[in-house]
Amino acid sequence: MDTGEQMAEVYFAPVGLGGGKGILEKIGVLFKRAGFSEIMKDRDLVAVKTHFGEYGCSSFIPGIYIRRVVESISGQGARPFLTDSGVLYLGKRRNAAEHVVTAHHNGFTLSTTGAPIVIADGLIGSDVFPCRVSGKYFENVDIAGAVADADSLVVVSHVTGHGLTGFAGAFKNLGMGCVGRKVKLSIHELVKPCVDDSRCDACGSCFKICPVGAISFGDEKSAVIDLDLCIGCGECMEICPQGAITIEWKGETGRAQEKLAEAASAVIVQKRGAIAFFNFLLNVTPSCDCFQRSSSPMVPDIGICASLDPVALDQASADLVMAAPDAFERKGDPAGRFDPLGGGSWGVALEYAESMGLGNRSYDLVRV
Ligand code: SF4
Ligand code: SF4
Repeated sequence: MDTGEQMAEVYFAPVGLGGGKGILEKIGVLFKRAGFSEIMKDRDLVAVKTHFGEYGCSSFIPGIYIRRVVESISGQGARPFLTDSGVLYLGKRRNAAEHVVTAHHNGFTLSTTGAPIVIADGLIGSDVFPCRVSGKYFENVDIAGAVADADSLVVVSHVTGHGLTGFAGAFKNLGMGCVGRKVKLSIHELVKPCVDDSRCDACGSCFKICPVGAISFGDEKSAVIDLDLCIGCGECMEICPQGAITIEWKGETGRAQEKLAEAASAVIVQKRGAIAFFNFLLNVTPSCDCFQRSSSPMVPDIGICASLDPVALDQASADLVMAAPDAFERKGDPAGRFDPLGGGSWGVALEYAESMGLGNRSYDLVRV
């Protein structure tokens, strides 16, 4: 987006140019050109916030890319470590012990990435640091402890779609991935799925995919959802072959995005001057990497973006995805690639973030 107003710089290394440096080599170039060396000092403990992928997922950012980020940080004399926080659901990243095993299973080891893993919110999610935000939704946001304690933070995000918020990039990585469980739950609380008994044929697909075991078959004729357990991921709705599951939204879907932006703001403000962002536009799948499977990507691989401005970075990333051709002859309006399941626009989070002074949606895309 270029409105002629004040613009942030987003550095972009496209894939597939042929000749010269490859996309892997460009990570170090992006790091320097985007000014990432300015956010860390010699001996700093630098958290590299990424997503190790759920067990069974295969579309996350591979460790070989993370290694290049780690090498760039080490090259500054700083001390990088990889981090993520525990999840709400029954997958294999719910506590720190299982999370590290899953990360190793998915290829994130000291020998492949060059950095140790520290799960940011501790063994069972209790290591958090409350930060005052005084927003519309939150007065305080719990930041995951290792993220709060780190001297600097490099946020490495995989750009994907997301059922609840529509778009997942830097803000999702911060607002869901760097905060405590209470905040995660609050962001998801708006979603309430319900089953139309007349359409359900008890095939069991939703039962198998539900990450928290919220679905059962009381009378064996149709699925029943326990809303006290449901975390509102929307996966059951997506998978139901009969279209029997609909989502009732407790309010506007934009509220979840605004909550996400407020949660992210706590981290951005706490790390002001010591935070930088990479967005990987590779394997851009419709759902995020929290699920135990990966769908085919929506578009061909695009490249990697880097910026000190997370609003500009997410805006540029979404624009690049929406301008790309379809992959695998997927059909549909490219402008709708990030439509949230509950309707409305994916861009609410960025508008709200801009209004909070967290960045600028106008950007200058600089190719490297
Ligand atoms: S939205 Fe559906 S799949 Fe997700 S937690 Fe709730 S019941 Fe389970
Ligand atoms: S996936 Fe749909 S049809 Fe199958 S059990 Fe669940 S609600 Fe019923």
